[in-house]
Amino acid sequence: VTQNPQQPEVNIGLVGHVDHGKTTLVQALSGSWTDQHSEEMKRGISIRLGYADATFRKTPGEEPPECYTVEETTEDGEDTEVLRTVSFVDAPGHETLMATMLSGAAIMDGAILLVSATEDVPQAQTAEHLMALDIIGIENIVIAQNKVDLVDRERALDNYEQIKEFVKGTVAEDAPIVPVSAQQEVNLDLLIEAIEEEIPTPERDETEDSQMYVARSFDINRPGTTWEDLSGGVIGGSVVAGKLEADDEIELRPGREVEEEGQTEWRPITTEIRSLQAGGNMVDEVRPGGLCGVGTGLDPSLTKGDALAGQLAGEPGTLPPTREQFTMDVELLDRVVGGDQDDVEEISTGEPLMLTVGTATTVGAVTSARTGEAEVSLKRPVCAAEGAKIAINRRVGARWRLIGIGTLK
Ligand code: GDP
Ligand code: MG
Repeated sequence: VTQNPQQPEVNIGLVGHVDHGKTTLVQALSGSWTDQHSEEMKRGISIRLGYADATFRKTPGEEPPECYTVEETTEDGEDTEVLRTVSFVDAPGHETLMATMLSGAAIMDGAILLVSATEDVPQAQTAEHLMALDIIGIENIVIAQNKVDLVDRERALDNYEQIKEFVKGTVAEDAPIVPVSAQQEVNLDLLIEAIEEEIPTPERDETEDSQMYVARSFDINRPGTTWEDLSGGVIGGSVVAGKLEADDEIELRPGREVEEEGQTEWRPITTEIRSLQAGGNMVDEVRPGGLCGVGTGLDPSLTKGDALAGQLAGEPGTLPPTREQFTMDVELLDRVVGGDQDDVEEISTGEPLMLTVGTATTVGAVTSARTGEAEVSLKRPVCAAEGAKIAINRRVGARWRLIGIGTLK
């Protein structure tokens, strides 16, 4: 893992159609490969959100954009100046994985939309992801027109015009379009310049109650580790408010499902922070922005295999309520995203919906549907505050498709 001189301070999503070069670009900028899982390697797609940190730097004495780099030293052996460390959230491009993309979007401060210059615009997930950015309210967008090494000038210009036409009237209308080759590392300086300008680090208040969106959770122990050598469970995600410090107590909600006298109920879990990792380093505190790993005192069987993904972590007693059902205001899209672009029909009572709230994805049955509003009963509860945005997906044929956005009441 690359060591970064600072904690990452901003999360940048990589979105766009499968094979357009998201993972390659993250690797070019950060030197690490986000498709870590063997299963992902086999299937060639990023099943889970991968993440990697990168430090943007500047060559002293050089003018923009040539001064921008990710190298620690120049060709002449001179040290470069650190600008800031960023975290890339590499979203999967496969259409059935829309929910994972949306859960990543909850922790994105801005996004790079990758569009391959070798294909017509838009491809299915290019459209789907841009709409998701719109819905989640991500406005700081840079468009990377990738694979320009594979097309001639005329095709590149034609593709550029297609991109322009496609983003007209969307949240990305004014986004800069930077032609790059992620694989050949062409124009990365221009891309870094655009990111520095378009995706600033948001203002944060460190004194707020701490809150972290949990996107992953793991058991880091090798099979057969003896009890005395066992490390506590690890959670990964992003601090969105306040800050986490080593030795702090934290609560996780909804927590775990416990059964008592034939009744099941979700109870928050409380534990302590044993270690913190950010930007590839062990640290004493983690501030908002960037992705982090938190070593806890939890039994690793609780954190194994992303079991706690989608939960919220924070100062005990300060987290929003756990909800097994809720009412949401509903804004339906005109058309189903992806596939045949069918019209979206009203939500009906009894239908199952897949809902993404923060980093949580849960299936809910509609218990009451009215125009502009729906009440749902969840299979798995979520911890979410009033006003939280909810991506609403409906089963269309064999797939879940995005049909609208809800606001928790
Ligand atoms: P993702 O699905 O969007 O993450 O795409 P990948 O990063 O896995 O890239 C898909 C394929 O395109 C891989 O074989 C890459 O080597 C290739 N690729 C990515 N960027 C470029 C580029 O700029 N030029 C060329 N020629 N190939 C690229
Ligand atoms: Mg990928």
